[in-house]
Amino acid sequence: MPRTKRSSPPPALPDASPAAAGPDAAADEGGGAAGKADARSVSAEEIAQDIATAIVEKRLPPGTRLREEALGKVYGVSRTKVRAALLTLSRDKLIQIVPDKGALVSKPSVQEAREVFAVRRVLEAEVVRLFTAQARPRDFELLEQHIHIERTTLEPRISLGSAREKLLGDFHVVMAECVGNVTLAELVRELVARSSLIAMLYPSSNDAHCSSDEHEELLRVCRRGDADAAVACMNAHLLRVEASLRLDAGIPVRQLDLVKALLS
Ligand SMILES: [Zn+2]
Repeated sequence: MPRTKRSSPPPALPDASPAAAGPDAAADEGGGAAGKADARSVSAEEIAQDIATAIVEKRLPPGTRLREEALGKVYGVSRTKVRAALLTLSRDKLIQIVPDKGALVSKPSVQEAREVFAVRRVLEAEVVRLFTAQARPRDFELLEQHIHIERTTLEPRISLGSAREKLLGDFHVVMAECVGNVTLAELVRELVARSSLIAMLYPSSNDAHCSSDEHEELLRVCRRGDADAAVACMNAHLLRVEASLRLDAGIPVRQLDLVKALLS
C-alpha cells in the first residue's frame, strides 16, 4: 500500500490523523473536501477493497478500530460512502460492526478458524477437481508463474510478514478463478482473506503456512489428470496449513487505530 500516493484512485490511506478530524469533520455528505473528493468518484467498492488489502497484508491487525470520520478524511469521501464500504467488509467477515464501538477488524475465534478451514477443504476440493478436468495450458502457465513469483519474492525474504500471506493465499484464488465458476471463486477469495486474518491472529508454529513446494506438488498432480489424487493433495495441504497454526494458544494482538497502524 502506498503511503503517500495521492495522484491516482483509490487515494492513499494515511496522511490524515484522527485528531485532525473533529467529531463531525467528515459528516458533511455533500460539501467541503468530502463532497469534492466524492466528485472524483472513489467508489465504496474501491475503499472496501483497499481496506481489505490492508487487512490481509497485516497493516490493519485484528481488533483495529476503523473510525468513519478518519476514513472519510483519509479517502476524502462522505460518511455515507464509508459506511457502504464498511458494510461490504462486514458481509465478508473481515470486520465486525459492534454497537457503541463501531467497526473493528475481525478477531476470528478458534471455532471460526476451524470452520473456515473446514469449508475451504470442501470448496477447494471442488476447485481442484474442476481444475484437473478442464485446465488449459495457459491455466497451468498462470499458476506456474505464480509459484515462480512466490519463490522469487519469498526466498530472499524481502516481504516477510505483510505480503507473504497474501501471496501464498493468492495461489488458491488464482486456481479458483481458472475454473469458470464466479461464485465459487468469490467464496474462495473471501475464505482465503479470512484465513490470512486467522494466520495473523494465530501465527504459525513454523515458517510454512502455505508452501510453494506444496503448491508445486499440487500442480504436478493436476497435470497428471488424476482428480482424486489432486483432491487428496489439496486436502492434505489445507490440513497442514491449519495444523501449523497455534489455534490453541491465541496471541493477543495490540489494539491500534487506523492511521497509527498504517503509518507504522
Ligand atoms: Zn496453499
